[in-house]
Amino acid sequence: MKSKLDDILSSDLRDWPSELGYSAIDFLRAFSLAPKIGTLTWRVLYQLEEQWKEPLIRALAEEANVRRELAELAIHEALSPECRRCRGAKNLKIGDKLQDCSTCAGTGLHRFSDSYRAKYLKWSVKYTRHQSSSFKRVRDLLSEYDRAVLKTLKKQLPKD
Ligand SMILES: [Zn+2]
Repeated sequence: MKSKLDDILSSDLRDWPSELGYSAIDFLRAFSLAPKIGTLTWRVLYQLEEQWKEPLIRALAEEANVRRELAELAIHEALSPECRRCRGAKNLKIGDKLQDCSTCAGTGLHRFSDSYRAKYLKWSVKYTRHQSSSFKRVRDLLSEYDRAVLKTLKKQLPKD
């Protein structure tokens, strides 16, 4: 049987924790047991608590050993990952038929281009490309911490 947590976590995480159906005390206790960078990640990405953004950028940049701008970009992209055309739905209604969104090829995710990234970073496209493996490292680290919180919550929260 799927838990309440699975239902919520497969929907929009921005609605947590009010829709989780757990008591605030249980939730906060479980949350506090997650890795520190993970809890910062959730505060910034899902609760949109701006004051934790700078500490998260610094922690990620240090751990991934990359320039801080790359950590900031990883967070920026994670905050609006949805395809701009289907808005993350993965498909579009054309007439009375649902079709895979051709812009994102049915992934629901926006593809950020090197030129977009270069503009955001205020770097040249060439230098941005040169930094792409560092960027991938910090982006992967961010999603690892994102998942680590989920793992802790699933382990710690009372089951139905
Ligand atoms: Zn799309």
